[in-house]
Amino acid sequence: MKILSAVFHSSAPDLTACPVHDRPEFAFIGRSNVGKSSLINLLTGHGRLAKVSGTPGKTRLINFFTINNRWSLVDLPGYGYAKVAKGERYKFNEAVADYLEGRPNLANVFVLIDSRLPPQALDLEFIRWLAATEAPFDLVFTKADKQSANQTASNVAAFKRALADADVAAPRAFVSSATKGKGRAEILARISELLDA
Ligand code: GDP
Repeated sequence: MKILSAVFHSSAPDLTACPVHDRPEFAFIGRSNVGKSSLINLLTGHGRLAKVSGTPGKTRLINFFTINNRWSLVDLPGYGYAKVAKGERYKFNEAVADYLEGRPNLANVFVLIDSRLPPQALDLEFIRWLAATEAPFDLVFTKADKQSANQTASNVAAFKRALADADVAAPRAFVSSATKGKGRAEILARISELLDA
């Protein structure tokens, strides 16, 4: 897919404020600092469509971008752990949960995973929840330039095994590097395929 236009549309604090339109939506989510903004900028060919943040977890809004006047790219706030009195609590934006459970336009979710790490409980917990909503999703393993291809492959395999152990049906997995431009063609081809389906 050629990106002919990529423009910011709007931001919504919750599901009821999401735009009313007929375009299919492709949503991107991951824990803070996973490389989501960098991947969005790589995919759209814009240096600064999504802000590459120095302050992780700052963005709380659901951001909509219109691509080729044909589909919407949705930048979802990330998930993480919140420090509370008795340790840590899984923190997940309710607006994001509502969006993922109830948005009729949602065509696919790309869940971003840091390819440098062994399977993280936080990501597995989110994906188990997402799979239960029956929203369609793929995985994108980011920052693959940070280690050898073998190490990336081994982390991807370990993640897939952890999902299988959690009884989650095997999703498609892409490997990306925003600095090397890796994964762009494959992810855009996947979006094309889903648009044509
Ligand atoms: P976000 O918080 O998920 O939106 O993550 P950002 O896109 O802001 O990236 C977080 C940090 O990781 C920034 O310092 C980026 O420059 C860096 N980063 C993001 N993607 C890559 C990548 O593919 N390779 C490398 N080496 N660094 C990356």
